[in-house]
Amino acid sequence: MEITPESDQSNRAHVRLLQLGRELNTAPTLDDYLQMLVDCASELTGSDASSILLYEQETGLLKFIAGPHYQRDRLRRVRVPVEHSVAGEAFQKGAPVIIRPEEGEGRVFSTVDRELFFRTHSLLAVPLAFRGEPMGVMEAVNKAGAEGYTQNDVEILETLGAFAANAIFNTLLFDEASTIFQDLADLEQKKSDFIAIAAHELRTPLGLVLGHATYLQDLQIDPKYQRHLEAIVKGSMRMKELLDDMASVESEESAPARLKRHTVAVDEVISEVVQGFQVDARQKRIILRTDLPSTPLAAEGDAEKIVIALENLVRNALAFTDPGGLVLVRGEKLPGYVKVSVIDNGIGIPARDQAHIFERFYQVEAHNVRRHGGMGLGLSVARVMVKLHGGDIWVESVEGKGSNFTFILPERAPQGAAERSIFQPRG
Ligand code: ADP
Repeated sequence: MEITPESDQSNRAHVRLLQLGRELNTAPTLDDYLQMLVDCASELTGSDASSILLYEQETGLLKFIAGPHYQRDRLRRVRVPVEHSVAGEAFQKGAPVIIRPEEGEGRVFSTVDRELFFRTHSLLAVPLAFRGEPMGVMEAVNKAGAEGYTQNDVEILETLGAFAANAIFNTLLFDEASTIFQDLADLEQKKSDFIAIAAHELRTPLGLVLGHATYLQDLQIDPKYQRHLEAIVKGSMRMKELLDDMASVESEESAPARLKRHTVAVDEVISEVVQGFQVDARQKRIILRTDLPSTPLAAEGDAEKIVIALENLVRNALAFTDPGGLVLVRGEKLPGYVKVSVIDNGIGIPARDQAHIFERFYQVEAHNVRRHGGMGLGLSVARVMVKLHGGDIWVESVEGKGSNFTFILPERAPQGAAERSIFQPRG
């Protein structure tokens, strides 16, 4: 094939455009990338200079965000109106505008020329848009030679403009997402701080109420008041449990250091916790039973934290099971793990909620005919307690039939996440 000056130039343009396409994801900053684009635009269209202008919502003007390197600072101060400017015309029409060498003088927005000590003869402006949304304009000025800008130049600038629009949009999106993530993290921190402080402050007066009430109970005062005292003690104990839950909602990252590791007899923990709920179960006419193996179940961990997790599961099972129902707490040994399941034949959990119930403050809407005075914290606390041990927790439930909450604890020090996940039921 014969190499003509035109075909040579077109090859060069292709190579440069491909290169810029590849660099879209590797340029260190947006400014660097836009600089490469305007330099390339000048080179490939044979222009004196090129620039990129972005529409500024607050002012309704177009502002330069890239241009010749040596004019950078001056350019950043200049704004171009959307009316009566070539850039504005391309922006509003959403189509390229070409100013030929002989038209230059009267048509261009002269403030820019004055600011930049520049004289525009010919100009090409193409609109920048992302998914149909106009964003700004890319310009090339003063093409060498007398003929002015051609259709080929329009195509080059449109391609470079598309790269620019992509890069700008991605950066804006990324910045926005980073700000949102930061705001969310701040909010989460404030929420945790508030919970921790509130729980801490409320414990002291509650301790006083509980202390005085149990003192009066011990005095064996007139039996007609005993009923009231019992109600006070019971209510206060429930409030204490809620406060314990609130105080336990701490981040998984900060808490492992506070884990007191010993060999825990998990079968004994199960028996004790179940024993502690028998009165509640009887009052609700629910059968509460254990199902334990004949051999001991031991795991390395913090007994107090395992108790908290299990209590929260059993409390929920009793709360969401109707009178006449059954709650079974089963302990099993798996290779390297101890598995604890709390199985009820209660109201169950709708499938769409199952993925969320371990989140803080999440409660199933349909259960909001408040069955018990929870705050949507019990399961998130249980989850934190289990995760601290390097274990895992999940639920299998059928609405109207019942739920099976299961957690596993490694028998010895925490193991890798991959090993843990094999116990997850397939979704
Ligand atoms: P709460 O303290 O409000 O019970 P949890 O985090 O313990 O909060 O539980 C979240 C929600 O999950 C509950 O409000 C309830 O709707 C649902 N849930 C938990 N355990 C059960 C269960 N055993 N059966 C049915 N629904 C349950």
